[in-house]
Amino acid sequence: MNMIFLGPPGCGKGTQAKRLEDRCGMVQLSTGEMLRAEVSSGTKIGLKAKDIIEAGKLVVDDIVVDMIDRRLDGAISSAGFILDGFPRTVSQAKSLDHLLKKRDMSLDQVVEFRVNEEVLVKRITGRYSCADCHHGYHEEYQKPKVPGTCDQCGGTKFTRRAEDNEGTVRSRLMEYHAATAPIVDFYDERGVLISIDGMAEIAHITEQLETIIG
Ligand code: AMP
Repeated sequence: MNMIFLGPPGCGKGTQAKRLEDRCGMVQLSTGEMLRAEVSSGTKIGLKAKDIIEAGKLVVDDIVVDMIDRRLDGAISSAGFILDGFPRTVSQAKSLDHLLKKRDMSLDQVVEFRVNEEVLVKRITGRYSCADCHHGYHEEYQKPKVPGTCDQCGGTKFTRRAEDNEGTVRSRLMEYHAATAPIVDFYDERGVLISIDGMAEIAHITEQLETIIG
């Protein structure tokens, strides 16, 4: 099953993609994570992308399309891929069609996560992760069991994404409505779109997604 998770930043698509990766052997392809890795390694792409990401704007299509092009082959032998954060423009969606066609791959399902945006702002501005294993936490909703210590690896250093502040979150939401929301119609017209309640419990959403995957 090859899928796209669609929804505004912080809607939970990354969390769910990771859970399905562990449970179903699918491959998560997150352009946001790929870009952050480029930024922290100080590559040419990273240097170009850093300010754009921190301003909550979109990186140019060519860069992200190329990153996906290089990663798709690795997903062929898996139980399928989950695109998380890509495509983000109609032009990226058209490029994806091309990338899949040349590999004889298909897109089976696009899942739209519907959310309340004010709750979303709270979710994003409170989130942080373990600096070692990247396990995610939230100041209010998901604290480590022992304060200051990662539940997963025992690490004691935590990081926050530079772009997870309120100003940037608001501009990412504006970008979402202007550039990304039109993709919902693009896939709806093809009959591959399904919408789910992104505000439901994490475990409940995973169960729903597993039913969709079958
Ligand atoms: P994310 O982790 O998916 O929220 O992505 C973080 C940031 O990376 C976004 O706010 C954009 O600046 C950039 N980004 C990630 N994916 C894309 C994409 N498909 N197109 C353009 N910019 C992207």
